[in-house]
Amino acid sequence: MDIRAQLSMSFNLDKCIGCHTCSVSCKNVWTSRQGAEYMWWNNVETKPGTGYPVTWEDQERYRGGWEVADGSLRLKLIKGNKLRTLASIFFQPNLPTIDDYYEPFTYDYQNLFNAPAGEHQPVARPKSLITGEFMEKITLGPNWDDDMGGSPLYATNDPNLKGLSESTKEMLTKFHKLFYFYVPRICNHCLNPACVAACPSGAIYKRGEDGIVLIDQDTCRAWRFCVSACPYKKPYYNWATGKSEKCIFCYPRTESGQANACAHACTGRIRTVGALFYDAEKIEETAKLSDDQLVEGMRKIVLNPNDPKVIEAARAAGIEDNWLKAAQNSPAYNLFVKWRISLPHHPEFRTLPMNTYIPPLSPILHQAKADKGGLFDPEADGFFNDLDKMRIPIKYLANLFSAGNEAPVIESLKKQMAVRMHQRFKRVGDISESDVKKALSEVGLTAQDSDEITRLNTLATYKERFVIPETHRESKSTVDPRTMYEKRGTVGFGTKKKELIGRQW
Ligand code: SF4
Ligand code: SF4
Repeated sequence: MDIRAQLSMSFNLDKCIGCHTCSVSCKNVWTSRQGAEYMWWNNVETKPGTGYPVTWEDQERYRGGWEVADGSLRLKLIKGNKLRTLASIFFQPNLPTIDDYYEPFTYDYQNLFNAPAGEHQPVARPKSLITGEFMEKITLGPNWDDDMGGSPLYATNDPNLKGLSESTKEMLTKFHKLFYFYVPRICNHCLNPACVAACPSGAIYKRGEDGIVLIDQDTCRAWRFCVSACPYKKPYYNWATGKSEKCIFCYPRTESGQANACAHACTGRIRTVGALFYDAEKIEETAKLSDDQLVEGMRKIVLNPNDPKVIEAARAAGIEDNWLKAAQNSPAYNLFVKWRISLPHHPEFRTLPMNTYIPPLSPILHQAKADKGGLFDPEADGFFNDLDKMRIPIKYLANLFSAGNEAPVIESLKKQMAVRMHQRFKRVGDISESDVKKALSEVGLTAQDSDEITRLNTLATYKERFVIPETHRESKSTVDPRTMYEKRGTVGFGTKKKELIGRQW
């Protein structure tokens, strides 16, 4: 067992109201700089929709992430020929251009104050932050699909609509029938990060102590292979510094036990952050699993922090007791592994993303109400059959959160429904106890689980939502992060070991 620690963020999509407070707080803290105007390390997308940069999930176009070829893991961008790929270092055809993000702009606010007196009210015209010129027409923004603002023109291009019937697609993109939801995104600080493996300069590394993936600004040579290789398009090129940069998981905050700026600011309190332990020896075999096994494989690579063997291995690896305690109280572990409610975003990209999402449930209950004349209808023939009737198709959620495999999504939604039934039984009392017991036992939850899940998603305090252990660099037992990572041999030129996964050049 090669045990490592990882900080992981979970997002409850039922609670996200798409307010973008997270994006703005991140922007203010980290990317309010020249060259970073177009960057949104945290962005929030409306789904169905094309996202930012446009259609980033379409790996036929961007060739991000990994594929299994001849039994080996290979970066998709390599396309079978490493030398030819490396030769494209000066022109990578799969890089998103500024037109795929958007031309960053501000408004000429001063005109509102300084305009001479005239017949009409003064206006604040948009001004490009690239050219400094006024812009006649804005054609794209970081949240262009917001609340379906750009649909149906944009929503129909959503890559996650694959596998849905034409009539369902049409229904999804009609405003009046549409159910939409928001997906906030940051870098996933993956276990098998394509950005790290792709970097010819070895500038990107994953810290063994907390799993945060960082770009060394001194070593970065701006080849931008990280931008191409990351299937989530979360590294960005800064044209002013000539370096790539990305979400740093607010490590100056987390190292002192504080929540990330985005998570702390979140209006809907949809985010929780906790520690996980994982077995680095299992990364390769997990990333090679077939699509239908990926979610389960990712759950298995996460170690049980209460297992005496894991505790012993953690201590032997120099993991401090405060991390152990945090992992044992981790909301990330409970949501992903213990309760099996949260799911990884696009596991089929095989980077083993370490943030997870609770898929949205709301429309099922709404549909149940419309069809059955009551929110919970114990007489209904198979309460859970209503899943089939939800307005957002299971297949669509599966394309987003479980590599197209519907089973993990159904399991999560059923569990959420059982919890809601239990809480309604306790608070409203219009469901029989036997129905609730049946619903909970069918999905393998107890009443205590239900109460804990409800508390975490509703009334939880700051300290319950963010169980982030402090990092003591001054302590001798803290393993040097680069040394720990290089043991895996996954960085680029700087690493001698080639036998393990990741290193491509
Ligand atoms: S999402 Fe994963 S592959 Fe992309 S930048 Fe973050 S760690 Fe790297
Ligand atoms: S601040 Fe929270 S609720 Fe608002 S958009 Fe971001 S994740 Fe959603």
